[in-house]
Amino acid sequence: MALNTVVLEELSLLEEVRPLLARLGVEEMSANAAGSVSQSSAAELEVRTPITGQVIARLRETSESEAQEAIETAYRAFLVWRNVPPPRRGELVRALGEELRAGAADLGRLVTLETGKILSEGLGEVQEMIDICGFAASLSRQLEGRTIASERADHRMMETWHPLGVVGVISAFNFPVAVWSWNAALALVCGDAVVWKPSEKAPLTALAVQALFLRAAAKVGGVPEGLCSVLLGGARLGELLVDSPRIALLSATGSTAMGRAVGPRLARRFARALLELGGNNAAIVCPSADLDLTLRAVAFAALGTAGQRCTTLRRLIVHESVYEDLISRLQQVYRSVAVGDPRAAGTLVGPLIDERSFAAMQAALQEARSAGAEITGGERIEVEAVGGEAAFYVRPALVEVAAQLPVVKRETFAPILYVLKYRELEEAIALHNDVSQGLSSSIFTLNMREAERFLSASGSDCGIANVNIGTSGAEIGGAFGGEKETGGGRESGSDAWKQYMRRATNTINYGTRLPLAQGVSFEIEPAEGGATNDSPNPE
Ligand code: NAD
Repeated sequence: MALNTVVLEELSLLEEVRPLLARLGVEEMSANAAGSVSQSSAAELEVRTPITGQVIARLRETSESEAQEAIETAYRAFLVWRNVPPPRRGELVRALGEELRAGAADLGRLVTLETGKILSEGLGEVQEMIDICGFAASLSRQLEGRTIASERADHRMMETWHPLGVVGVISAFNFPVAVWSWNAALALVCGDAVVWKPSEKAPLTALAVQALFLRAAAKVGGVPEGLCSVLLGGARLGELLVDSPRIALLSATGSTAMGRAVGPRLARRFARALLELGGNNAAIVCPSADLDLTLRAVAFAALGTAGQRCTTLRRLIVHESVYEDLISRLQQVYRSVAVGDPRAAGTLVGPLIDERSFAAMQAALQEARSAGAEITGGERIEVEAVGGEAAFYVRPALVEVAAQLPVVKRETFAPILYVLKYRELEEAIALHNDVSQGLSSSIFTLNMREAERFLSASGSDCGIANVNIGTSGAEIGGAFGGEKETGGGRESGSDAWKQYMRRATNTINYGTRLPLAQGVSFEIEPAEGGATNDSPNPE
């Protein structure tokens, strides 16, 4: 199978990266593609590992004309793929899952190298991909429509679901590959083609996934060329997907600022949008909470992925009766949690993605400090074994604030946990909902009334609401996404597949009369002996 538009050009790879790419099939894929792609006008994309800040690869960016060609090829692939029976489409996704399973250790490590998340989380991201492939492969035999009661005699009404077209996927750096799989696995079984623009900060893992996809496609056979492709580059290529009339659905994951740019452009051409944007997630800790469990849950939710998950816990709203106890224990955790090389056993917090992220964290802490906040941690750390000028390791920051300051209401994509005190549950829920984002939320309580209030219509206003577990680490079986400025999209499990299909309502008349809906009468002069709306059935 010929490749789309990706060429791995000149490489200056770390010793560690090259064998991973070789085993995952990236070099082979790129070598095959080299002859078919023009080498002119090659802008370069520099890939750095946040572990050391070093450049680990240089890739040739996809040009705009190549991107347009990939979209056209995807559209042609869609015209074929939509007619392949869904269970056969599911076979491709099942095979992709098998390739991911075989390459999990290598791909997980590459995720760690490219994003700086600890190995266990790198592997967890790949496991999530395997899980969604399993889900989607099963779904391929369960795509279904309803039969609906018709008000007219001898009529049947039903819904059918058809493939939609080419799905564009724009993804963020922090889940460089899982987000693609949430979209692609569903889109493929739904009969769509996929064009992916990964984050410019994490293109290597995207190439690796593309290589695994091509292996799966070769094994299964009969997969049209260009069904899935990858465009390497920055926002400009994303805009190209956004504006292309060939892209029927654009799934965009990233900051709310990106969503603000993308949303109106999609609306202008009436395209379907699936927006997965920033979060500002909170947890309420009630008087009856199991504090040992709460401490562990808060630590994972706030410190995991160095605070760089969309679902990271950013605000902790604690009842005054347990405040001192919980916060003093949390301060100990923040002072001692192992920050360092994400490849090392024992490390729980790896580096920030880059200097910009570090600067944004410091600016937020300065703003909070000026407003009287008390801060534990937040400073830059030298990690001798790996660090350097260009690597940004920080001690996570626990920030006690007296009120929900403007800085608390913003998402700063770094390990900062703001802590607030409350007295009445209503007050805590009001604080909880008083931000413009609405992704994930938790309550820690053993009181059934409090838990149910939080989950009720007048409780959390988020797309995800949990009891006695943290805000992050969602399973693929549920629909994932959030409200308000988080964008309203839902991906992954439950019935999220419906967004990747086009719904048709069908009404079938198997009688001999033509009754009109709502009892409307529309009589034309009957021809001699002809039927009217109301003429009785002959039987
Ligand atoms: P980002 O917004 O900087 O970039 C995300 C992607 O959008 C990249 O691929 C980028 O090239 C592209 N992009 C940027 N501007 C664009 C434009 N005008 N048109 C088209 N494409 C454009 O985000 P990031 O720093 O990579 O990721 C962090 C952000 O993503 C955080 O805000 C985080 O909360 C959010 N996020 C959300 C979810 C979710 O599911 N809700 C998941 C992961 C990350």
